Amino acid sequence: MEKVTDYFGSMVFDDRIMKATLSEKVYKSLKRTIDRGTPLDISVANAVAAAMKDWAIGLGATHYTHWFQPMTGVTAEKHDSFISPAPDGRVIMEFSGKELVKGEPDASSFPSGGLRATFEARGYTAWDPTSYAFIKDGTLYIPTAFCSYTGEALDKKVPLLRSMEAINKQALRILRLFGSDKVKSVKTSVGPEQEYFLVDRDMWKKRKDLIMTGRTLFGAMPPKGQEMDDHYFGSIKPRVAEYMADLDKELWKLGILAKTKHNEVAPAQHELAPIYDTTNIAADHNQLTMEVMQKVAQRHNLVCLLHEKPFAGVNGSGKHNNWSISTDQGENLLSPGETPAENAQFLLFLVAVIKAVDDYQDLLRLSVATAGNDHRLGANEAPPAVISIFLGDELTGVLEAIEKDVPYAGGKKEKMKLGVDVLPQFSKDTTDRNRTSPFAFTGNKFEFRMLGSSNSISCANIHLNAAVAEVLRQFADKLEKAKDFNKSLHDLIRKTIKEHKRIIFNGNGYDDAWIAEAEKRGLLNLKTTADAMPHICDKKNVDMLTSHGIFTEAEIFSRRDIMLENYIKTVNIEAATMIDMARKEIIPAVAKFSADTASAVAVKKSVSNAACVYETKLVTELSQLVDDMDSAASELEAVTSELKTISEAVPASVFVRDSILPAMDKLRAAADKAETLTAESSWPFPTYDKLLFGV
Ligand code: ADP
Ligand code: MG
Repeated sequence: MEKVTDYFGSMVFDDRIMKATLSEKVYKSLKRTIDRGTPLDISVANAVAAAMKDWAIGLGATHYTHWFQPMTGVTAEKHDSFISPAPDGRVIMEFSGKELVKGEPDASSFPSGGLRATFEARGYTAWDPTSYAFIKDGTLYIPTAFCSYTGEALDKKVPLLRSMEAINKQALRILRLFGSDKVKSVKTSVGPEQEYFLVDRDMWKKRKDLIMTGRTLFGAMPPKGQEMDDHYFGSIKPRVAEYMADLDKELWKLGILAKTKHNEVAPAQHELAPIYDTTNIAADHNQLTMEVMQKVAQRHNLVCLLHEKPFAGVNGSGKHNNWSISTDQGENLLSPGETPAENAQFLLFLVAVIKAVDDYQDLLRLSVATAGNDHRLGANEAPPAVISIFLGDELTGVLEAIEKDVPYAGGKKEKMKLGVDVLPQFSKDTTDRNRTSPFAFTGNKFEFRMLGSSNSISCANIHLNAAVAEVLRQFADKLEKAKDFNKSLHDLIRKTIKEHKRIIFNGNGYDDAWIAEAEKRGLLNLKTTADAMPHICDKKNVDMLTSHGIFTEAEIFSRRDIMLENYIKTVNIEAATMIDMARKEIIPAVAKFSADTASAVAVKKSVSNAACVYETKLVTELSQLVDDMDSAASELEAVTSELKTISEAVPASVFVRDSILPAMDKLRAAADKAETLTAESSWPFPTYDKLLFGV
């Protein structure tokens, strides 16, 4: 048996390989670029490129690619081989520093939201040396950022890196005020827990909806769903266990710290969690994880569904974004410390996050808004569309005591004095019980639970980092001017608690009563992508994002349009697939089954006096449902044609929400009813029970 420690990271050009293959001078120079962003000299780039190429060829690679993350949500790559003609008719393998540092993919076919007119289809990719290159399927992958020639971000990596820089800058200002002069950089870390479904590939092939849209557009509930609660953490079936073992191995080779795997709440649903990493690396790794999950599934004749809601009526899949801020000295700024001073600093960062989430609820909500995730947020299992923060009773008690200037009941009988008192110990146990909160403090990190399973984690982290950076900026502006630091700090923390405590909610987030209460508190409830996305262009958001250099105004407007177009196109494809399945598969099957039943009645009646009550009722009901499906399909055809006449993204998205989606629901309702009345042998594709329990 091969040992994990032997093959972990074997396909990664990591620090160990860099040290071994680069001269000391080149290595040091590259390290400076990685750690501090110092520009890279071309001679260094040439040396790194040569070493990378030799290493990659040694492991069987023939090609290289600039791997990037355009606004499609999936990664993009164009492969070039290393070959270069030699005078004697043979080839040599070449790779220059220039090729490493910059690529020029034809950018015209990637969404740009009007940023880059197609006639000047030029975009370029730039090497991100902070994320290691790796080999996959015989190709050297170079993580890159994707920009237009005029420097606008066309991807999700550029703004993510900018947002990390913003929080670095502002957090350092705060740390200086607390007297820390050793810290050189502050970075955010993320551990994204990834949920997914596995279905049998042969069954999948028979369902156009799964093939075209990643989710079932039809399907009545099976007799057994998730009500028995027997799947969560249940024992893993052998076929799934083999898949998971294979997946772990592939991920480990790529240096991805896959750590935890278990069954999830819904049948056929599972989760994989890595050990957390710096945010931009976590984003690259999560993207890669999703890709490898799907590829490995093929080898096991399975399909990995990453859609947020593959099956109506059972839990959907999300991604929990565990997020923290830490220094290059290894200090987690969201971890309560052991001294009063450390705790004052912790409380300041804590209330900064609270204020950021309250001030920028809309940005957080829209960062996870997609057609797929709309089925999940606010449905019975997932966090609601309303954003609130769970802190746990103990920490909430501490904040209340500070706000009201009264003794903290759980601690000493005296009033809390910042900079004097030590916080009461609160264990992770008491913070982590609530699973219904969209944004929960879990002891030393926040867990943002609204992300969809297929989403890139970048958007959520861009907005989260930006919002927190903005609040830290406001805090630093104030505290840097303070005459009495401790008093100002105390006042600032108190004021922030008072102004933003409305966002704290420790109860059950699925409860209808909470939604009513949230409304009273003035919290936003942006139910769909169409409701949420336009808010990115609100003045307060544009001002904030541009002031920290995260987006330009043009980039913000282009992103709104790209995300809305994605929503519109996704639903449009679903509608077209539904019409196709209804017209070509379901309606003919039901019509035939009902005709067969009707002829059976005729035969029966010809030989006996049987009343055929059952058959007559069935045929009548099915005939009605066939008519209902036909008219619902026609209605859906009509609204999808009407959608084509709306050219602007915002009104088109509203039309999708108000007209297309309800028409889809109507068609589905009739078809699902027909399914329950039709013989299983006559149904044209595998049903929910087979898909959910068939692996
Ligand atoms: P859960 O109870 O939600 O399964 P875990 O403690 O197992 O929680 O952590 C879930 C994820 O959070 C893992 O990916 C883990 O690496 C990550 N995580 C743990 N600590 C941190 C941290 N300080 N910053 C960011 N992510 C973290
Ligand atoms: Mg979790």
